Amino acid sequence: MTQSQNQKKQYRCKPEWLKAPLPGGERYRQVRAAVNGHNLATVCSEARCPNLGECWNSGTATFMILGKTCTRGCAFCAVSRGDGEPIDSGEAARVSAAVEAMKLDYVVITSVTRDDLVDGGAQQFADTIDAVKGLRHNVSVEVLTPDYIGAPLRRVLDAAPTVFAHNIETVERLSAAMRHARFNYRRSLDTLRAAADFGIHVITKSSIMLGLGETRDDVRSSMRHLREVGVQILVLGQYLQPTKAHAPVKTFVSPSEFEAYAQLGADMGFEFVAAAPLARTSYRAAEAYVSSRHVK
Ligand code: SF4
Repeated sequence: MTQSQNQKKQYRCKPEWLKAPLPGGERYRQVRAAVNGHNLATVCSEARCPNLGECWNSGTATFMILGKTCTRGCAFCAVSRGDGEPIDSGEAARVSAAVEAMKLDYVVITSVTRDDLVDGGAQQFADTIDAVKGLRHNVSVEVLTPDYIGAPLRRVLDAAPTVFAHNIETVERLSAAMRHARFNYRRSLDTLRAAADFGIHVITKSSIMLGLGETRDDVRSSMRHLREVGVQILVLGQYLQPTKAHAPVKTFVSPSEFEAYAQLGADMGFEFVAAAPLARTSYRAAEAYVSSRHVK
């Protein structure tokens, strides 16, 4: 059997542990109504996240700001590629209104990458953080941003998010093949290091998808790199091919291998490691935050 036939067979035979329940339930419908009612995008839908049902049913949604089209376009990502959409000046207010309507006390905000904007959209992140933090009830805000450096990064961090996340997405050896050419593995580490070193206290977080052809040594190296730049929360999950046009799955990593990585992460000093086939950056984000606060 050729490698490509083998990959096709593997994909058809998706292991049992990757089957997520179909979305449904009362809370799911409420979250969907709040998202649609405020004309908002979520990364849960745009990136076809397998945990959408579970997260929305627990009242969690990850808002995606700055439009639905990304100016980059990575080999693994389901988000559409295109020119940047006009900045929506009412977006921050609508996100905070949806957060209020959903009674969320922990919110994750992410975005597409906007290379067409001078600040990459950092001001829109800051405005959205400010709007959510201005609500009557106390809300913790996690942001998952592009690879900001310098003034745009400072602009986001000045708004004092509780958790700052930027994903390296894959191991160093596969980074150039899997991420858009404008990404650079070392720059992503610089973003995370600068956030960890920023004057105010912010918890830093990053994710790696597994199953793209990396070795255990590759993963161990990337975990070490993330610890070296001060990352406290690590997420490891199985990559799933969104469509046939995207990078193929090379391997399905077993739950026991994920457990071994979780133990390794704990031994390396991460404050919280979410390592499971369906773990995603924002999946159980509030739990990761709370757990990381109770480690010391
Ligand atoms: S930059 Fe982010 S949103 Fe854009 S294609 Fe890559 S992973 Fe997807």
